[in-house]
Parts: sequence; structure tokens; C-alpha cells
Amino acid sequence: MSKNTVMTVGITGGIGSGKTTVTKIFSILGIPVYYADDRGKWLLSNDPELIVKIKENFGEESYSASGELNRQYLAKSVFGDPVKTEKINSLVHPAVAKDFESWVSLQTAPYILKEAALLFETGSYKQLRKVINVSAPLKIRITRIRLRDPQRTEQQINDIIDKQLPDEEKNEMADFVIKNSENKLLIPQVLKIHHALLELSEQIQIDN
Ligand code: ATP
Repeated sequence: MSKNTVMTVGITGGIGSGKTTVTKIFSILGIPVYYADDRGKWLLSNDPELIVKIKENFGEESYSASGELNRQYLAKSVFGDPVKTEKINSLVHPAVAKDFESWVSLQTAPYILKEAALLFETGSYKQLRKVINVSAPLKIRITRIRLRDPQRTEQQINDIIDKQLPDEEKNEMADFVIKNSENKLLIPQVLKIHHALLELSEQIQIDN
């Protein structure tokens, strides 16, 4: 059986940049989306191999007697500890990569999107054919997050920003940039990239 060669495209952006909003537009155009961050959370509760590794490294208390993930315990265990944060990431990232690969093998669309907040930071962008960065000025992003998640403190928002590469760097690394500031329309930008990706995917099919 020939290997599925669907074109994989990453979509990323800093906190509050609007990557989920933009991704929804691609989704309406019929493009399948793999939400890597949500899927990572799902795998923590459902992937038997990952569950064993989490218990080995963080203790049996990581799951309740009935097998539910003890999110609070795990979050407390890794909070502010870079070695433990690195450890949990080193367990979750390969599980997501494997899950993504098997998801991709089922897809038949001309291309698919992988949405993740840290595509460049984790190096996972290297496995993708193209990457889109959703970009917006930091001030606008913070305002949007405070409106969307009023329970979050400024400190919590800043802690997340500190773990992400600056927008300018991501724009340089990306193949496509979508500007999501107040005076830019999203839909025409998405349509332009969508058509470019459809053409590219057609070209790849011809070359294969
Ligand atoms: P996170 O990294 O936190 O998941 P995100 O990059 O996925 O954020 P979204 O959730 O898409 O960002 O957008 C953040 C908030 O800003 C949402 O409430 C969304 O509705 C709003 N928003 C996004 N784009 C725009 C826009 N162009 N105009 C007004 N509001 C917007």
C-alpha cells in the first residue's frame, strides 16, 4: 500500500494572536485540522503507553483510582520546575507526534493543518511542509486574552509570552504570515494562502 502523502501545514502564533480563529476559517473551507495542544491533553488521559510513563516519572498519584488524570497534582508537580517541565514535554511530544502521524495517514484532503502554540519552539515545524504564523501586536494580543479569559492574571499571561518566541522571529521563520491586527481583514488573507497551498499540493501530486 502506498504511503499517504497529504501535504502537512503548521499554523501557529503567540498567545491571543488569533490562530484558533484563523484555523476555523480554514476548517470552513474543508481543511481538516489537528489541534495538537488539545490532542496532547486528550492523550494524557487516554494513551495507555503515555499513562504508564507519566506514572513512572511523576507517581501513581498522577491518576485517580478510577484512572482519571489528576491534572491539579501534575500541574503542581511541574510548576516552576524546568527539569520536570522538560520531562513531561519529552513524554507528551513524541506521543503527539505519533498520534499526528496516524491521524495524517487517514486524511484525504489536498492538505491538512496542524495547529499548535509552540511549533517553532519545539522544533516540530521541521516535520511540516509549510508553516503559517498568525501575527498581531503584543498589546492587542494581551487585550484579547484579558477579554477572553478574565480569570487569568497579567503574570500568568506574561509567563506564557516569555516561553514563546517573539512574533518577529516567528514571522521570519514562517512561509506565510497572517496579520491579525484590528485593521486587517482575515478572510481575504486566508483565501490567498488557501489557494497557494492548493496549487502547491497539486504540484506535489504531479511530481509524485
Ligand atoms: P491561545 O494561544 O490563547 O489559544 P489563539 O491564538 O488561539 O489564543 P484566539 O482564541 O483565536 O487566539 O483569539 C483570542 C481572542 O481574540 C478570542 O476571544 C477571539 O475571538 C479574539 N479575536 C481573534 N481575532 C480577532 C479579531 N480579528 N478581531 C477581534 N477579536 C479577535
